Amino acid sequence: MKHYTTQMDAARKGILTREMEIVAEKEGIPAEQLMKLMSEGKAIIPCNKRHKAISPSGLGSSLKTKINVNLGTSRDMTDLDMELAKVQSAVDMGAEAIMDLSSYGDTRKFRRRLTETCPAMIGTVPIYDAVVYYHKPLIEITTEEWLDIARMHAEDGVDFLTIHCGINKETAHKFKRNKRLTNIVSRGGSIIFAWMEMTGKENPFYERFDELLDICREYDITLSLGDACRPGCLADGTDASQIEELIALGELTLRAWEKDVQIMIEGPGHMPLNQIAANMEIQKTLCHGAPFYVLGPIVTDVAPGYDHITSAIGGALAAASGAAFLCYVTPAEHLRLPTLEDVKEGIIAARIAAHSADIAKGIPGAMDWDNQMSQARKDLDWDKMFDLAIDPVKAKEYRASSSPEKEDTCTMCGNFCAVKNMNRILDGELVSIFDE
Ligand code: SF4
Repeated sequence: MKHYTTQMDAARKGILTREMEIVAEKEGIPAEQLMKLMSEGKAIIPCNKRHKAISPSGLGSSLKTKINVNLGTSRDMTDLDMELAKVQSAVDMGAEAIMDLSSYGDTRKFRRRLTETCPAMIGTVPIYDAVVYYHKPLIEITTEEWLDIARMHAEDGVDFLTIHCGINKETAHKFKRNKRLTNIVSRGGSIIFAWMEMTGKENPFYERFDELLDICREYDITLSLGDACRPGCLADGTDASQIEELIALGELTLRAWEKDVQIMIEGPGHMPLNQIAANMEIQKTLCHGAPFYVLGPIVTDVAPGYDHITSAIGGALAAASGAAFLCYVTPAEHLRLPTLEDVKEGIIAARIAAHSADIAKGIPGAMDWDNQMSQARKDLDWDKMFDLAIDPVKAKEYRASSSPEKEDTCTMCGNFCAVKNMNRILDGELVSIFDE
């Protein structure tokens, strides 16, 4: 058996792994094409060697756009079974990744349950967990302990770790000199920034980046380079702090690749629509083509309760412009921890954004789904339409709630049904409309 450390190392050595075979099959592309992209860092397969339940997925701008679902306990919501029900629902609805953002209770128990049973990629943010795990004031956590928590998540089988390595002293100075409307809104970023301010020390993950890479290499963990300075409002979009951090992330990307560690880059955040495509280009250039994982982007700040829509608009444009991975946003964003129904709405919105982008990107086969739906609509084949719907349950409920007089039409137009009338006239039948 040929020896390799990470999927990237295998790709560079020309070794076709089982994970690559599965992903190539899922994507409908030749394995050699995938392997080349992976050797260049342009595609990744986050897959911890200890996550045995995983069904591997690939991330990269030339692969299908994937979606992530954030879940986990908080101080106000500690029901593990409820969170596990959300995980199952997310997987059933097509989410390729779950990020466990638990910040209260026995976080290790939940994390291990996930990696023992969940076929989706699992991501975590060890920075949150450090505060819970060590159970002591932030200022007392040592550089060594920050690294240890990352190691613990690695041992637990997590596939990708989001770590805010780019908020170093240089970025922090830039942030303080360039005032923002909403400061730092990243949870992990704000914790590390506060720790740096209180201790006067460098970001432990930046300072000890090589050790962090060694952990990632050992378990084949993908490092998701967190964007502490992602804009938290439209006014802060594409500002000095965001770009300064992105430059740092680009430098860290090259260092990771030297050790064959797979990398993705996290991105905005909140951003005006007209800045999104340019941001994707800047990221691709500064971060050397590493897959981009965007959190939204949310394109207006005034729609609490509807942020699954504001983010789907931004996510579709971001992915069509090259983002590989969309983090879902639920209607509960900025308001509360999402319920099961919120999670569902967020997933559907993200899947719509991802699929729309895949059509625009020309991903092989993406448009076939739409063509089949259009044919079913032309045929007024309602069962087929439900089968093909991204949310068949909702589609069926809507139709059932408003019965048409004529079964083949719907209550939108009734006798004026253009589809039915065109089918009939082109088949040589009479179309009266009035007395039908
Ligand atoms: S009634 Fe109108 S909306 Fe309904 S299927 Fe016919 S054309 Fe479409």
